[in-house]
Amino acid sequence: MFGAIVGRLLFREVTTLEIRDLGRSFRLVRFGGDALRSATWEPGDKMQIYLPGQGMRTYTPMTWDVDGGVAELLVFVHGTSPGAEWGRRLRVGDRWQLFGPRRSIRGAGPADPFVLFGDETSFGVARALTDAKGASRVRCVFEVNDVAESEAALAAVGVSGTTLERQPADAHLAATSERLIDELAAHPSAALVMTGRAQSIQLVRAHLKAKRALRAGTVKAYWSVGKTGLD
Ligand SMILES: Cc1cc2nc3c(=O)[nH]c(=O)nc-3n(C[C@H](O)[C@H](O)[C@H](O)COP(=O)(O)OP(=O)(O)OC[C@H]3O[C@@H](n4cnc5c(N)ncnc54)[C@H](O)[C@@H]3O)c2cc1C
Repeated sequence: MFGAIVGRLLFREVTTLEIRDLGRSFRLVRFGGDALRSATWEPGDKMQIYLPGQGMRTYTPMTWDVDGGVAELLVFVHGTSPGAEWGRRLRVGDRWQLFGPRRSIRGAGPADPFVLFGDETSFGVARALTDAKGASRVRCVFEVNDVAESEAALAAVGVSGTTLERQPADAHLAATSERLIDELAAHPSAALVMTGRAQSIQLVRAHLKAKRALRAGTVKAYWSVGKTGLD
């Protein structure tokens, strides 16, 4: 009971308004409620979803209409862990609670370009930043499990970028890094934003450093092998 009362004070309660399945692995969720109207949201911010009995999981609002009290997120249904299972089972009309939004990826002015590295969990932030800056200022390179499915999901949410399929022993990360180096060279004033899997970020950073292409920016691991609920 104490938890429920505290929860009501801390969290924003929302209702699922619409769900679009984008292939087998992505669910585009539109949700709303009066509690969204009092928020201060900026593209790149994160929010935490409260999963009763499991704790919090972090997601990215892709859009947030404060006046309308409506927002959207893209869930990557990667397995059977709590967040993925929540996304898989979510139905229109379900009520749930979130904490935030809170600052996650910012730091560049609206006109400054970003070169973004990430994966399927980064499509939402890519969309939010694309809306804020325009497609030509957000250059994305993603490692993904399934190129065809990911490209269809990216097109559905209005993000363009390069997708490279994951290979055993991370063999794809050399080509991924080279692609990022090309984007950085083509956009000398761009900040480098690294998201997605912690282990991939580490390897790509090492590759960029070795090629003297590492640049200032933001590093934010979205998940890490064997760890749960990164924030
Ligand atoms: C700032 C921020 C923003 C994020 N935005 C989004 C978003 O918009 N959409 C989204 O889908 N995710 C997003 N994520 C990632 C998401 O929070 C994690 O994937 C989270 O671990 C999912 O919770 P879970 O309960 O499914 O897995 P957990 O219980 O946290 O982890 C269980 C196991 O699954 C593994 N795992 C976790 N994520 C993945 C994955 N993507 N692929 C393969 N294995 C995985 C873990 O390594 C662990 O071994 C974001 C994370 C952060 C920190």
